Amino acid sequence: MNIAKNLLQIKTELPETVRLLAVSKLQPESRIWAAYHKGQRIFGESRAQELLPKHANLPKDIEWHFVGHLQINKLKQIAPFIDTIQSIDSLKLLETADRAAGKFNRKINVLLQVHIAQEETKFGFSFDEIEDFFKSGLFLSFENLTFSGLMGMATLTDDREQIRKEFNSLAVLFQKIKADYFAWNDTFKELSMGMSGDYPIAVEEGCTMVRIGSKIFGAR
Ligand SMILES: *Cc1c(COP(=O)(O)O)cnc(C)c1O
Repeated sequence: MNIAKNLLQIKTELPETVRLLAVSKLQPESRIWAAYHKGQRIFGESRAQELLPKHANLPKDIEWHFVGHLQINKLKQIAPFIDTIQSIDSLKLLETADRAAGKFNRKINVLLQVHIAQEETKFGFSFDEIEDFFKSGLFLSFENLTFSGLMGMATLTDDREQIRKEFNSLAVLFQKIKADYFAWNDTFKELSMGMSGDYPIAVEEGCTMVRIGSKIFGAR
């Protein structure tokens, strides 16, 4: 697995407006180092118990994003250093993240995960829940969180049109929320969609960040 070559190839494909999150879950630290040495600084993990030692051992200028289903009781462990939680899928998690960030006197960026796939197993809010949440104004009450955008995972399928439809619907929702509630500032700016198997479609549909694991690091 030539991590340097994989990274370079993906980066040449991505427009300048799209940031790359290297999803390093279940990968050894040696592979993270390989990407780090090629300039990669944003890494994603999906389990707190795996993220904690990696954060402790690896360089402190890495920007860590959490991308998996996060248990409430894990928040205070990652709150001291996590840059962004991309997988916010409940109000309870938001409230707990806000309190945990406050305790450590810092701000945590959050993306709300939207359920765009047909599969029932994927976490996330429905489109209506997202609209209702912002309409309620509740988002203004979380002092220690920055609402940075939305995240979604498409259905695992070979049907490219299905994937495109799902990404497009998320992009439309993202633009609407941005226009309706964040017109006065640019904090709500991240549309995180696209993984190893489908990121070119996500780029075409207007994402600002792709989350790529196996295509950089190899199979897990
Ligand atoms: C694992 C994971 C990825 C990366 O998946 P690959 O197919 O290896 O690129 C992206 N996003 C989330 C939420 C993940 O859990």
